[in-house]
Amino acid sequence: PVLRVAIMGLGSYGTRVAEAMKTCTKAKLVGVISGHPAKITAWQAKYGIPEKNCYNYENYDRIKDNPDIDAVYVITPNALHHNAVIRVAMAKKHVICEKPMAVNAKEGQEMVDACQNAGVRLLVGYRMHFETHTLEIIRMRKAGEFGKVLFFQGLSGFTIGDPTQWRLNKALSGGGSLMDIGIYSINGSRYMIGEDPIWVTAQETKTNPVKFKEGVDETIQFQLGFPGGAVASCLSTYSMNNLDRFFLNGTQGFAELQPATGYGPIQGRTNKGELNQPIVTHQTVQMDEMAGILLEGHQPIVAVDGLEAVKDLKIIDAIYQATKSGERVELHL
Ligand code: NAD
Repeated sequence: PVLRVAIMGLGSYGTRVAEAMKTCTKAKLVGVISGHPAKITAWQAKYGIPEKNCYNYENYDRIKDNPDIDAVYVITPNALHHNAVIRVAMAKKHVICEKPMAVNAKEGQEMVDACQNAGVRLLVGYRMHFETHTLEIIRMRKAGEFGKVLFFQGLSGFTIGDPTQWRLNKALSGGGSLMDIGIYSINGSRYMIGEDPIWVTAQETKTNPVKFKEGVDETIQFQLGFPGGAVASCLSTYSMNNLDRFFLNGTQGFAELQPATGYGPIQGRTNKGELNQPIVTHQTVQMDEMAGILLEGHQPIVAVDGLEAVKDLKIIDAIYQATKSGERVELHL
């Protein structure tokens, strides 16, 4: 069986996913949801999408009556995911939602509940969960090859341009660099260490309060404590370019990825040498694997469901709280 997918939000990442899906074997782009008629026409021509599978933001609830679409992939600005996912769930279609799944844990939980009540699945676009180098380090850690893991470092950053873009508008982004890319280190610390954190501390620095307005973080440093004694030290920023590094150390050795979460190729090494994993197009593998999850009941090695995303959102909520209070915040995931 092939997972027939409609993409909502035909922007830069939506386009990347559409291109990557051309080489999928188990997933196929069959529909679009967009507010721009010209984009719809262009995508129809490019991807052979029939008129009956094209929707806009007013009428997409009607997707409920379309038997030729199995799932909707929501790739709009962050703050719009909540409403879109709930509407898709009410239309009884599976939902794949981009990260961050929502702008806080409360909204995230509402999305999980809506999908559960509607009897549809909710998956999140955590493409690194299917990436070969990432999975090799997870395999090695589970096999005990690093001994007891005691430290993780996750660094994520790029220098953001256009000050008018939605990523710098709190109403659409829900926050700043932490929401957008810090989430890779948050999520990464959990699958690299293999535990959920129990506390967080965090510090914010802002060098440009004109560009990064109230509620839009430029740089946040945060620390996570794990039940087994490991700590994570992470940084996310919109003011440093080419910052993309994961580092893991245990009693027996280390692993490092740099670049760690970019579109690839990912590169990594451990104390045993270079990681020589196959280079994959992340979104192609992700969509084929998600088809396996939704249609064949596969279990991914690292979970990609809505509850997994709610954990990351609880951590994000706690990090923002800690930057304001200066206090350590306890987590209950
Ligand atoms: P983008 O600006 O390129 O595209 C956003 C799309 O949403 C545009 O086509 C825009 O027209 C549409 N849209 C619908 N309603 C809108 C509104 N009210 N205001 C603004 N735009 C609206 O952004 P993007 O980079 O494609 O990011 C979209 C989502 O994908 C974000 O949640 C982002 O975090 C996520 N993303 C994920 C990855 C990844 O690697 N997993 C990479 C990039 C982006």
